[in-house]
Amino acid sequence: MSAAPASRPRVAVFKLASCDGCQVVFLNLEERLLALAGRVEIAHFLEASSQVQPGPYDVSFVEGSVTSARDVERLLAIRRSSRVLVTIGACATAGGIQALRNWADVEEMARAVYPRPEWIEALSTSTPIAEHVKVDFEISGCPIDGAELVQFVTQLLAGATPRLAEHDVCLDCKRLGRVCVVVTRGLPCLGPVTRSGCGALCPSMRRDCYGCFGPCAGAEPRALAHRYRTMGIPPDELARRFRGITGALGPFRETADGLGPDAHHPR
Ligand code: SF4
Ligand code: SF4
Repeated sequence: MSAAPASRPRVAVFKLASCDGCQVVFLNLEERLLALAGRVEIAHFLEASSQVQPGPYDVSFVEGSVTSARDVERLLAIRRSSRVLVTIGACATAGGIQALRNWADVEEMARAVYPRPEWIEALSTSTPIAEHVKVDFEISGCPIDGAELVQFVTQLLAGATPRLAEHDVCLDCKRLGRVCVVVTRGLPCLGPVTRSGCGALCPSMRRDCYGCFGPCAGAEPRALAHRYRTMGIPPDELARRFRGITGALGPFRETADGLGPDAHHPR
């Protein structure tokens, strides 16, 4: 393999605790990924190639949350070797679905799931990358959206400061002319408080948003929860809704915790 020109930025993709889904979004870009690959040197991306190059890297994308002491060590090393660090997906930006452990007893869970729980070395919480190291950009979603990823990388390669959407899913829903599932079906959609980036994917399928992109700028989830309570949605159901894939993030976590004692124990 010929050496890359020195001017090509060196890009790395890393994974901590996650399902690999956001890395698969990279691979699913296909021709668009190949076009990008001609403009950068992909130096470390184990999901795509076992040929890895040591750092330093110009841009590192990190998928997954911090769930073990080893994750912390790896993350600190990644940060040291990366000029720009970008977290990708709900696990990396919010702790992911594995953050459900944050409201439970991890040792009790390990005993229930594993025949040899003493072999499990896990922290009692699953936390976002930004709680451990400085993060330069966060791309949300479960998984991330391919179009938003391409736009982000294109802006970065052009030398611009990438801009990611901060508005709510409702705005995209209206722009696309989708029928509101709260109004027509009485579903507790989290679109009014969830960051856009998915193109209002779930309402486009007549489903309610469950907040996988996390809270949008200026989100008022408590007010939305109050509105849904007046529609007869039970508090424990609402708490589970806010305590989903991005439930460890402040506004959603505080809203879920405030929904009453019945809501403190997710089932
Ligand atoms: S379906 Fe959800 S995202 Fe769409 S307008 Fe209604 S509340 Fe907003
Ligand atoms: S509509 Fe909501 S739950 Fe569905 S993909 Fe978009 S942000 Fe995620």
